[in-house]
Amino acid sequence: RPEFALLRLLFASVGETRCPDCGVKVEKHTIPGAVDACLMLPGGSRLLVVAPVARASADGSDEARPWESLRRELERQGFQRLWLGGRIVEVGEVPESRVPAEIEVVIDRLVLADAPAESRSRLAEALETAFKAGAGRAMVLVLDEASAERERLPFDVRFNCARCGRVFPEPEPQLFSFNSAVGACPTCQGFGRTSNLDPDKIVPDPRKSIDTGAITCWQTPAYKQLHKECRQACHRQRVRTDVPYVDLSEADKRFVWDGDGDWIGVRGFFDWLETKRYKVHVRVMIARYRGYYTCPTCGGRRLRPEALNVRVGGKTIADLALEPVKDLRAWFDALRLGAEDEEKAAVLLREIRSRLAYLDDVGLAYLTLDRQTRSLSGGESQRINLASALGSSLTNTLYVLDEPTVGLHARDTHRLLGILRGLIAKGNTVVVVEHDPEMIGAAEHLVDLGPGAGEAGGEVIFEGPYAGLAACKTS
Ligand SMILES: [Zn+2]
Ligand SMILES: [Zn+2]
Repeated sequence: RPEFALLRLLFASVGETRCPDCGVKVEKHTIPGAVDACLMLPGGSRLLVVAPVARASADGSDEARPWESLRRELERQGFQRLWLGGRIVEVGEVPESRVPAEIEVVIDRLVLADAPAESRSRLAEALETAFKAGAGRAMVLVLDEASAERERLPFDVRFNCARCGRVFPEPEPQLFSFNSAVGACPTCQGFGRTSNLDPDKIVPDPRKSIDTGAITCWQTPAYKQLHKECRQACHRQRVRTDVPYVDLSEADKRFVWDGDGDWIGVRGFFDWLETKRYKVHVRVMIARYRGYYTCPTCGGRRLRPEALNVRVGGKTIADLALEPVKDLRAWFDALRLGAEDEEKAAVLLREIRSRLAYLDDVGLAYLTLDRQTRSLSGGESQRINLASALGSSLTNTLYVLDEPTVGLHARDTHRLLGILRGLIAKGNTVVVVEHDPEMIGAAEHLVDLGPGAGEAGGEVIFEGPYAGLAACKTS
């Protein structure tokens, strides 16, 4: 759907990612950006620039680095103080037992000048050092009169949550496509549903024994062989096949379901069936024994969770996909972004708004963008194509429409007529095959084929302007 493609571009361009755990807006900070954020604080603010440094070894193992070696390295780099337990302490004074998993190295202490701009270069220098020492992260703490921490501004030059450090994918159009490996929910591969074997359907009557057909999926002639193999495997494994299934031990049931090297098991059997899905009777068979569930990971929204952390105007792309064109149009008309984003997305927004307006105008106000193309009626797809045509500025084009009013309310037929007139005004020609009286009445030139339908027709009964049609007795 072209409208959906536009939404993907919009989300990639101006979508705002928030960490679901911290609620912090995820962004890549730059030194000038971080400095600007600090300069928004009132003059006279007491600031402490620190770099968070993890004690975990650089080689990626979880083992904490011995404090002694980390301390020496810090001192070698010229860092002498830590922010620890709410106060500044000398690196050399801290015993190993008091060192947390992540330490905060003091980079600089300063009081913001009354004219904040005077502090710009000092802050920039401190933040640059902090980003280097903190492997991309830095914090600016705002201290009160008693040197207690009142507030902290987290910064990160990578695209991750500046508070907890979690890394997020940078929005790109593919992240918002469930047809792409980048965007599809990993649990359901973008289908929105997952399916599992339903034990109650496979063993509907657990009072039966395996011998008497407890496992229903193998009781048809086509799969009788598996019934036999199952019994043989059970005998080999000393699993009773002549007692009610419900009385088998958990281990025995697991053997029946999961099998072993020689015995395929119920699950293995269905996995094998999956490879034969192209056969209709196999699909029927699978459907009978599987239960379908809304995907627990994406909740049926088909996109990976990371895509749903991204919002425009407070909504995710999945939210927008569920809204009818009419509401979407109103929402986009009211949408106001920040000045910078507004400029960045101006072309996209204009295009989205006009496409939604066209879809609304051709009588598709109720349509949601997640509707699949193949679920649309003939009249609906024609009107969608019409909406696309309206968006283009084609002239000298011949449009041929086959009963575009099918399924339309009278009011919408009226609007559709207005649209067709608009196409004509642009210098195009519109030919419509139609039974609708209002549409017929609006035509400049009519050709009436008849007298009956199908083989009983095919003759030109009337040709000319509408006024003449009324006078024609045979039409
Ligand atoms: Zn976070
Ligand atoms: Zn899913």
